[in-house]
Amino acid sequence: MSTPRYDRRDLLQAAGLGAATLLLPGCAGQLRRRNGSPETARPNIVFIMTDDHCAPAIGCYGSRVNRTPNIDRLGHEGMRFDSCFCTNAICAPSRAVILTGKHSHVNGLMTNSDQFDGAQQTFPKLLRQAGYQTTMIGKWHLKSAPTGFDHWEVLRGQGPYYNPALLTNDGESKYTGYTTDIITDRALAWLTSGRAPGRPFLLMCQHKAPHRNWQPGPKHLTLYDDVTIPEPATLFDDWAGRGTAARQQEMTISGHLSDDDLKLTPPNGLTEDQLALWNAAYEPRNEAFRRVQPTGPALVRWKYQRYVKDYLRCVASVDDNVGRLLAYLDESGLAHNTVVVYTSDQGWFLGEHGWYDKRWMYEESLRMPLLIRWPAGITPGTVNRDLCQNLDFAETFLDLAGVTIPDDMQGRSLVPLLKGRRPLNWRQAIYYQYFEHPAVHNVARHYGIRTQRYKLIYFYQLDEWELYDLKQDPDELQSVYGDPAYAAIAQELETDLRRLRTYYGASAVTD
Ligand code: CA
Repeated sequence: MSTPRYDRRDLLQAAGLGAATLLLPGCAGQLRRRNGSPETARPNIVFIMTDDHCAPAIGCYGSRVNRTPNIDRLGHEGMRFDSCFCTNAICAPSRAVILTGKHSHVNGLMTNSDQFDGAQQTFPKLLRQAGYQTTMIGKWHLKSAPTGFDHWEVLRGQGPYYNPALLTNDGESKYTGYTTDIITDRALAWLTSGRAPGRPFLLMCQHKAPHRNWQPGPKHLTLYDDVTIPEPATLFDDWAGRGTAARQQEMTISGHLSDDDLKLTPPNGLTEDQLALWNAAYEPRNEAFRRVQPTGPALVRWKYQRYVKDYLRCVASVDDNVGRLLAYLDESGLAHNTVVVYTSDQGWFLGEHGWYDKRWMYEESLRMPLLIRWPAGITPGTVNRDLCQNLDFAETFLDLAGVTIPDDMQGRSLVPLLKGRRPLNWRQAIYYQYFEHPAVHNVARHYGIRTQRYKLIYFYQLDEWELYDLKQDPDELQSVYGDPAYAAIAQELETDLRRLRTYYGASAVTD
């Protein structure tokens, strides 16, 4: 085993103190000069975000479980980020971080129960002030009405998988069909007939899928019927190398999936035709289940297959619809100077450690997929491994548009990375904090620091620490906190964690 080492160079600068100097000679400015026309040179931004789609269920991230040819195009034709992490692995808080470029404890939305303060500064507002047309379609999930958009059509709360209503400034419109398709239909309708040609735009297209409870669309109800999805190596993890928090959670595939999750009963709200298709797919499967009545590990394996196939069927619809959007951009000639982003609000446990859901600072839920294609500005097929966060998205979009980045945003523009030029003072560590406890799944509150190699987590309600050496133990099976070989590293990480908490204003948060 190599000697554990922790590179602490310029940690505080890396966290963002050097951002101001980096942003003065903005890349967007160079692009304007090169193209000669400031107005036409500003790129359009199409931000496609799904809900709970983890990178291991994307082909170009090396998926062992599915294929996603359309999403993969963005990686092959743009840049794939392999080390993008959320600041707080849950739906609404991640969205608020993305909009504001500020940590949860600063933008005020710390848990899914909180309401977003729409009066505060967001990047869509700043783009709009700078002349961008701004549109938001799909899952919003922030309780308050969208602000900063010329046009919006959003699901109410989580929204259903079938036959959704979309709220707008003018009231509610009801649609019949599969929500992933309908969100894309509405995005395409705005692109073709809603926007003003010639002006740059921001289109946020945010899907509900593949959020729990994973109801597949009519086109994919029988996908994967004839295959067995590979199981993760840690499906039967007993969490012996982790602390109390892991052992007291309530998010196991073995014990916490409901009959609705497992589709032992059909969903409510389907039309007669939809229900007939649904039953044709699920009744034979449920009949086989009742006949065999598996128990013990066989039952866990059955639940895993049922769960993961439905999840991947939902992803298949997302992939189809990403393809529809990309096809429009190609056909319309917009593709060249349109930045297309594919991401998800956090990662997800696809059976690893026996779990589903998110919330933890462990890799599966911490890591976000991030693919960015921009033919006018990014070398195709490139991969970036620098530490990035959803905290950086707002500043990135402002930088791309040549808009001054407010001093109070807490991330870094990714534009230098997109250009293949990593600033010397790029961050060496990220900060994370999860607040939603007590709540569903019983995941204790925690905060921590992650570097390229190490992760230190403090479960502050339990006063327990965990430390992982991601090089030696990428699955985080054995905490080495308290191991004398890691004592010096643990001490350095604790010091830097305190500094990061002070830098981001987190140390003042008492709960
Ligand atoms: Ca989510």
